[in-house]
Amino acid sequence: MKQQYDLIIIGGGMVGASLACALLPAAKRLALSIAVIETHPLAQDPLSYTPSYDARATALAYGSRASYQLMGVWDTLREHLSPIEHIHVSDKGRFGAARLHADDENVEALGYVVENHWLGRVLLDRLQQPDAKKCIDFICPAEVTALTPQPGRMGVTLYQGEEAHELSAELVVMADGGRSSLRENLGIHYHIAGYDQHAIVTNVSPQQPHGGVAYERFTDSGPMALLPLEDQDGLHRCGLVWTVADDELDSILALDDAAFIARLQERFGYRLGRFVKVGERFHYPLKLMLAEEQVRANLVVLGNAAHALHPIAGQGYNLALRGVVALAEQLIHSREAGQSLGELAMLERFYAERLSDQQRTIGFSDSTMKLFASRNPLLGLGRDLGLQLMDVCPPAKTLFARSAMGLDSPAPDLK
Ligand SMILES: Cc1cc2nc3c(=O)[nH]c(=O)nc-3n(C[C@H](O)[C@H](O)[C@H](O)COP(=O)(O)OP(=O)(O)OC[C@H]3O[C@@H](n4cnc5c(N)ncnc54)[C@H](O)[C@@H]3O)c2cc1C
Repeated sequence: MKQQYDLIIIGGGMVGASLACALLPAAKRLALSIAVIETHPLAQDPLSYTPSYDARATALAYGSRASYQLMGVWDTLREHLSPIEHIHVSDKGRFGAARLHADDENVEALGYVVENHWLGRVLLDRLQQPDAKKCIDFICPAEVTALTPQPGRMGVTLYQGEEAHELSAELVVMADGGRSSLRENLGIHYHIAGYDQHAIVTNVSPQQPHGGVAYERFTDSGPMALLPLEDQDGLHRCGLVWTVADDELDSILALDDAAFIARLQERFGYRLGRFVKVGERFHYPLKLMLAEEQVRANLVVLGNAAHALHPIAGQGYNLALRGVVALAEQLIHSREAGQSLGELAMLERFYAERLSDQQRTIGFSDSTMKLFASRNPLLGLGRDLGLQLMDVCPPAKTLFARSAMGLDSPAPDLK
């Protein structure tokens, strides 16, 4: 194992692996040496798609596709993506509804749904290719236990089994997810607001094909999203994200499959006919979390480690991916200019530019959540009118669609 790198990425999850892939196109030309350190072992079998009924899925904004194209993984990724051709937003028990169509926006899809395990496999497989291995060391299973500032660098202590190693890099990127103790040890503080809600995530099979529609349905007990997925074993399949109040969680999780389906049916209605099967249920506490400090000299905090938001608008990973691409572009420019990758002034510029996107995206998710959670009848009427207005007003729809598709951010440039 080498001891000195230009860049060390802690965490080979969706965000850490994306950053490594984003730097690959320029890494050889710029002679970048990169290490990715990940706790979980890598899958050893060749890249293949294993359909799973019990997998979590992510809605990728249309704009994210340009990033994957530049990383060189889009053609593989799209083998198992489900395009979102229409979005249907409705408010249970009220008249408001809005529909967005890819055709109206002149795009092939408004977004894509990818199963997280497929996205992870594609990114990690890219990092295992011979050209990638020349500049990227994937160190796993290994756990980073401490970070120590050093003059002009950041020291990293990692454990592989019982064995400790000391590495260092000009820049360390913490892409270690939402539950790491490393940030606490560094004294990084967070703004945290709980929603008193959990997301129940599972796959369900409706009788009727989903037709490429992503449903966003607001109910008096919380919003639910139904995302189109590939059929499996002759059954249609959708990914369900169902937001429930904390005090309802245990009773809903205790339901058997038939009772769960009945409850879901009552909440979602019969737009897709009857639900005939449900997979394993996973649940996640929902909170809004924003790191108050995301850069220091030789250190960046990225992805879920930096921010977590309500999944209502499917924006968390898309926001993180825009951060990944912006950081990769900044690092490439710094290297070309002969500057250290860990220079504080450069990292502060990067952070200042990211903060406005983070605040806008978090604000949108948070206010949508609060608007639709409100039981105030006047607000209910207002949102119905808003949905109806958007449905009949093409410019308003396009504005909303471009924002949801991630097309209101500049195109990435990773060369
Ligand atoms: C219910 C739900 C639905 C969602 N749906 C969407 C959606 O539709 N669209 C969207 O854009 N976003 C969505 N999100 C958000 C999205 O899931 C996250 O943004 C994404 O998972 C963040 O990935 P990450 O790589 O930052 O973190 P993680 O996926 O947590 O990865 C962190 C990695 O770091 C490793 N690690 C941790 N500590 C260490 C250590 N000390 N040393 C070495 N390795 C370490 C871990 O093993 C892990 O692999 C959703 C979130 C939830 C909860």
